[in-house]
Amino acid sequence: MKITNIRAIQPIAANSPPDWRTTLGQILIAIDTDAGLTGYGVGGGGAAGMHVVQTVLRDYLLGADPEQIEEHWLRMYDATLPFGRKGIAIMALSGVDLALWDLRGKQNNAAVVKLLGGTSGEPIPTYGTFWGEIDTTQVDNLSAFKLHLRNGTVADVIPALQKAREIIGFQAPLMVDGWMKWDVENTLQIAEASQPYQLDWIEEPIPIDDRAGYASLRDASPVPIAGGEHEFTARGFQPLIEQKLHTIIQPDVCWCGGLTQLIEIYRQAQQAGLRVCQHRGCEVWGLHAVAALDVNPLAESGRPWMTWVLDQPEIENGFITISDRPGFGIRIDEAQLP
Ligand SMILES: [Mg+2]
Repeated sequence: MKITNIRAIQPIAANSPPDWRTTLGQILIAIDTDAGLTGYGVGGGGAAGMHVVQTVLRDYLLGADPEQIEEHWLRMYDATLPFGRKGIAIMALSGVDLALWDLRGKQNNAAVVKLLGGTSGEPIPTYGTFWGEIDTTQVDNLSAFKLHLRNGTVADVIPALQKAREIIGFQAPLMVDGWMKWDVENTLQIAEASQPYQLDWIEEPIPIDDRAGYASLRDASPVPIAGGEHEFTARGFQPLIEQKLHTIIQPDVCWCGGLTQLIEIYRQAQQAGLRVCQHRGCEVWGLHAVAALDVNPLAESGRPWMTWVLDQPEIENGFITISDRPGFGIRIDEAQLP
């Protein structure tokens, strides 16, 4: 089988950011083959990510055998090394890698979860992320809850936690996400003051590159610290894991370098005794690895923007279940693509 075409597309969907932002500018990668199979993956970087695919990465794949994913990954990584390593180039590469994994599944008539040694059909517990306040209509539809609170002071966070516990009670896990906007001192005060509300983790309270800050939090915080959605490649995660700067490692498969890197991040983290809990784990691109590789699976609810991805599994009564369809088990609504 040979690769005949690589397409990079930024689909428009209701409520999706209209710009090129690196955070959630999802791009769809479609890899066509001479066998009539097409693999689909999602990466990031918006229009800038598309440009990386169209001007650099496609040269390494056209005419190649798609099955050699790990070799292709290394060649594309090497080709982007002087300007890549982290950020847009790796976000673009992530989508290409995922499209190759979708093809591997389709060629072997197997769901990706099966290629990873797991099984489809097992219900996986899920958690929802809420900006500011938990949506009371969602309480029965999720197994755990996370509050996204960018104002990182005790006065902002503790009343929000109290309200959250009033809504969900004390049975379900509760987490909080500072999205890199807090500081070390406030995080430690919040961690102490949050103890009556039993947080499972505090996520990304400070910027990812503040390793000294994360070392302080590792040593002093009574609440486990989570993070990693803004880190890239297994090599990038290595110091975080070796120094145990996070207790819960949260790679995003559409940004961190794709499934090829995610597998290695799981291996390293689990060897170090750390938990992996993927960012946006309910989206199919990460969910197969949640099912196959997580010891303690908990999948984060996805974003509602990928309306052009059909047959995505949905959360029901707090759980999500993978089908046994080949690859990632989805179809693309080509009519919605620009
Ligand atoms: Mg987060």
